[in-house]
Amino acid sequence: MKSLPYFCRGEVVRGFGRGSKELGIPTANFPDSVVDNLPADISTGIYYGWACIGNGDVYKMVMSIGWNPYYKNTKKSMETHVIHKFKEDFYGQTLSVVLVGYIRSEKSFPSLEDLIAAINSDIEEAKVKLELPEHIKLKEDNFFTSTTNSSPVSSSSAASTSQSIINGH
Ligand code: ADP
Ligand code: MG
Repeated sequence: MKSLPYFCRGEVVRGFGRGSKELGIPTANFPDSVVDNLPADISTGIYYGWACIGNGDVYKMVMSIGWNPYYKNTKKSMETHVIHKFKEDFYGQTLSVVLVGYIRSEKSFPSLEDLIAAINSDIEEAKVKLELPEHIKLKEDNFFTSTTNSSPVSSSSAASTSQSIINGH
């Protein structure tokens, strides 16, 4: 996928309450404005990358890009599970992410146990892949340290010059 790594950020909005949190895997949802900016070559499926809330620390993440049942599966959704235990929810805050790599396509699973097992294996794969030198360097990208990171932006770029432009300095 030529658009990877893909940088974007936006406000965390409420999802459709599918009980992800009850499964121990909460997923923070992006608003349509962020989803609608996705380049066409970013297909649905499971991705790994880096994420931060507001100006906080940068953590590993897995993201599901899928079809949004609220819109009868005609619109995409982007749901990020940050691989970190937070003390509180962060609805309304700015989530910044970089999609680094692709894990697998969307699948349906025969049981809830199988779904949870698949997600846990995605998380393990993300943890390992993100340790690769070419991936770990994205954690330090100035996209995450920008003091102006409250405005929603998106960009696909491997070049730090472009990052400077979207970060507004
Ligand atoms: P919703 O249907 O509203 O998305 P979820 O059950 O998926 O509800 O929970 C998502 C919310 O949980 C996020 O919006 C965020 O505020 C909170 N949250 C707490 N910890 C995490 C985490 N590690 N990753 C993602 N979201 C988290
Ligand atoms: Mg969710």
